[in-house]
Amino acid sequence: MSQIYDRVALIGLGLIASSMFWAIKRAGLAGEVTGYARSEDTRETARRIGLCDRVCDTAQEAVEGADLVVLCVPVGAMGPVAQDIAPVLKSGATVTDVGSVKRHVIEAVGPYIPDGVHFVPAHPLAGTEHSGPESGFAELFDNRWCLLVPVKGSDPDAVAQLRALWEGMGANVDEMDADHHDLVLAVTSHAPHLIAYTMVGVADDLRRVTDTEVIKYSAAGFRDFTRIAASDPTMWRDVFLTNKDATLEILGRFTEELFALQRAIRTGDGEQLFDYFTRTRAIRRGIIDAGQDTDAPDFGRGKATT
Ligand code: NAP
Repeated sequence: MSQIYDRVALIGLGLIASSMFWAIKRAGLAGEVTGYARSEDTRETARRIGLCDRVCDTAQEAVEGADLVVLCVPVGAMGPVAQDIAPVLKSGATVTDVGSVKRHVIEAVGPYIPDGVHFVPAHPLAGTEHSGPESGFAELFDNRWCLLVPVKGSDPDAVAQLRALWEGMGANVDEMDADHHDLVLAVTSHAPHLIAYTMVGVADDLRRVTDTEVIKYSAAGFRDFTRIAASDPTMWRDVFLTNKDATLEILGRFTEELFALQRAIRTGDGEQLFDYFTRTRAIRRGIIDAGQDTDAPDFGRGKATT
């Protein structure tokens, strides 16, 4: 794979940024990668483990001269970071991000992008419940989707160049508009996370089932919930605060379905339960047939999850 950008700046050095760094290095996609994190601790860790060719003490220093700037901070922090770096962005550079919500990022970052700088928001659909500079690995994006969400007037060449970077990091790339992205993610990721957080909270509250029993007899379903519910609290707080409408819409639908199933259980309507579970089973088969999952016990994911 050949070099796509001369210099890439990663702002925020957590799971996604560190995975990007290792994936960029694996394929030789950038001449130099600079990095910045707000805490001295994270910057020190990054220097110790060789994360980034150069770790800078300010975001502006990391961004200076960069051809691509990737905002890898929680969604709620994107606007202030963009404001901070705006004065030093190089003319002709591209600014992108990896945030899990797109409409909010476009509204928060867009106004700070100077004329002559391209803005191409993006979202890799890959992650784990781990966070921080030491949690990244080069394979995170392999065969996962990365959605590009070009804004009005995004330069096609800048979009194509960013697409090439993500493909070089192993991802499959699609384009989508921001509102549709936020709705799709509310269904596939945001609402399921909230349900997992709730289920783990309920198990914790239910004192008739002891903690040791929950741990000891935890079958795959609940174990998966606890893994998801261990995800970073800051990141997920920001996701729900900034993708409010779509998540509330999906949670409303979810609650209605839950009530219907609750009623079927109470009235002993086995046929409704059977039909419902038959339909959901077919959906699962569709996902496997589309190559997005496997029947393997770990769903073929190793340590990566979406
Ligand atoms: P992470 O591992 O928790 O790392 C976050 C980084 O952002 C850290 O370097 C942190 O700096 C910095 N940061 C936090 N708050 C900040 C603030 N207010 N101002 C400046 N910097 C700040 O997070 P991540 O999982 O890589 O997520 C980063 C972005 O990727 C988020 O927008 C998230 O929505 C998106 N994303 C995450 C996943 C996932 O599964 N994790 C998947 C796809 C997309 P310090 O270390 O110095 O505190």
